[in-house]
Amino acid sequence: MKSHPKDPICGMPVDPTALGICSARVDGRELLFCSDYCRREFLRQHPSETTTAAPEVREARAARKIAYFSMEIALEDRVPTFSGGLGVLAGDTLRSCADLRVPVVGVTLLSRKGYFGQAIDPDGAQREKPASWKPEDVLAPLPATARIDLEGRAVEVRVWRHEILGADGYVVPVLFLDTDVPGNTEQDRHVTDHLYGGDDAYRLSQEIVLGIGGIRALKALGYSSIQKIHMNERHSSLAALELLRERGSAGEADFRAVRERCIFTTHTPVPAGHDRFDHGMVRRLLGEPVPGDVLAMLSGKDRLNMSLLALNLSRYVNGVARKHREVSEQLFPGQDIRHITNGVHSLTWTCAGFRDLFDRHCPGWREDPFMLRKVLVAPEEELWRAHQGAKAALLDLIAARTGRRFRPDLLTIGFARRATAYKRATLLFRDVERLRQLGRGVLQLVFAGKAHPADGDGKAVIRQIHDYARLLGEDVPTVFLPGYDLELAKALVSGVDVWLNTPLRPLEASGTSGMKAAHNGVPSLSVLDGWWVEGCVEGVTGWPIGPETVPAAREPGAVDADDAADLYRRLEHEVMPAFYQSQPRWLAIMKHCIALNASFFNSHRMVQQYVTNAYLP
Ligand SMILES: *Cc1c(COP(=O)(O)O)cnc(C)c1O
Repeated sequence: MKSHPKDPICGMPVDPTALGICSARVDGRELLFCSDYCRREFLRQHPSETTTAAPEVREARAARKIAYFSMEIALEDRVPTFSGGLGVLAGDTLRSCADLRVPVVGVTLLSRKGYFGQAIDPDGAQREKPASWKPEDVLAPLPATARIDLEGRAVEVRVWRHEILGADGYVVPVLFLDTDVPGNTEQDRHVTDHLYGGDDAYRLSQEIVLGIGGIRALKALGYSSIQKIHMNERHSSLAALELLRERGSAGEADFRAVRERCIFTTHTPVPAGHDRFDHGMVRRLLGEPVPGDVLAMLSGKDRLNMSLLALNLSRYVNGVARKHREVSEQLFPGQDIRHITNGVHSLTWTCAGFRDLFDRHCPGWREDPFMLRKVLVAPEEELWRAHQGAKAALLDLIAARTGRRFRPDLLTIGFARRATAYKRATLLFRDVERLRQLGRGVLQLVFAGKAHPADGDGKAVIRQIHDYARLLGEDVPTVFLPGYDLELAKALVSGVDVWLNTPLRPLEASGTSGMKAAHNGVPSLSVLDGWWVEGCVEGVTGWPIGPETVPAAREPGAVDADDAADLYRRLEHEVMPAFYQSQPRWLAIMKHCIALNASFFNSHRMVQQYVTNAYLP
């Protein structure tokens, strides 16, 4: 046998002609890697050796034009500083920026204690475990620090750096802000501990660190050519206020100048989700960076509305799906709000079997996910084999974690998202005897999701799923997998047959897990809300549940009943017959999920729209 070069990371011989091989040019030589993972690992360990990356690494700071602020950024499970969709979106956005060589730098909080680790008691009660991690194991400390004031105390903010490596080695840095610095008061050292923890004052302190500390950290680190500030959700709105303060006055020309630089993406379709801080508390913690009457004019007379502040100081404002834009326009009348529909990072969310299949039949898809349209020419058997592989992996994982063996031949429905009331995880159980009757021996259900520690209703949802699982017994096997994170999400969205989504309209601004499912040929059965209004082609990419809009006068209980009835009807008369009686039809649906939806609902397309609509103008 001819000897092959060895992967410098794992030591495996690499056949240069095999599929799925990755390479990088290093000091003029071509190095081969068995996988993208090893290539990234190598580039991470040798950032300065990479000829393609080196100039960017050296010039990174001077060349960055956009700062992307987000309270949470989900990079990997070892950095547990995210709670859900907002962080995953931020991570996918920056991954696509790296692939597309968009000169962005990410800014977020260090969240030393993470969000939390989830354990479930035998009775279905969620218990929170600390999710502490060691930044020094994963991130590089930077020498410069920034100064902010909290309640009149000077607080030093230090910065840690993570690198996202794009497909050809281009680096997008992510800066993590940390107040755990010797010299700060004990209280101040804990401000960047708990993601979404604490009371209003704690939250405002964090948002001061993120927004104001973020702008000052960029300056201290030499990011001198930042032209645009992109605020991913309202938590970083004080960044815009800091730009205004920097100008020294707050006249019409100053507003205009700040607005030219700011972009605001809102994710929240309800008034209650737009946090409002008491002006007295704001003055106590923040002082008066701009005169009080100016702040009140920009952010609300009675309380400081962070979303309103960002809206008033941004020239480009967008919702995260077409429908969410309409909802946001009603929430903020008179504001010019656009939409850029969310997407997910294709390579990240595609399981190994489908990656191979796409490499064979959709060449170029890794750089340009539009190429996924080509999946229509792939042989059906290959599609089915890729899916069965992902399903077998999920069923193994379920067996390992719960001791229950699901059957590979049964229709398996997945539902995983933050456990919170509006997502209505228990809608499927509303008429549990109906579910037992239609699903006995033909359905299996798998659930996952964390409830915020202070969300009693969310925790009740998890307990109810446990109770229903017990009630259904072996008739409709149902499991709840604790510890929803990126890896579990990937196993679920690729390993189930149908992805279920039942939010209360119009509360799902976009939703992204269904887009991940589509990348793995898994159709959605979903209420018409968020992205699904755009993604649903009935019977082609999946199925709707209920109408797109419900009369405002209809009570929530009645809406639940209507939606549950339609859900059962769809399952019984459309989803199950397609799955069990018509394999060609099912495979056509799987293909169209990829060709129509994965090719569009990806973060490469999304970032390109941000560049042309928001960053460049
Ligand atoms: C994708 C993802 C989410 C967001 O999913 P939605 O459908 O928007 O609710 C939340 N948590 C994790 C771990 C994810 O991977």
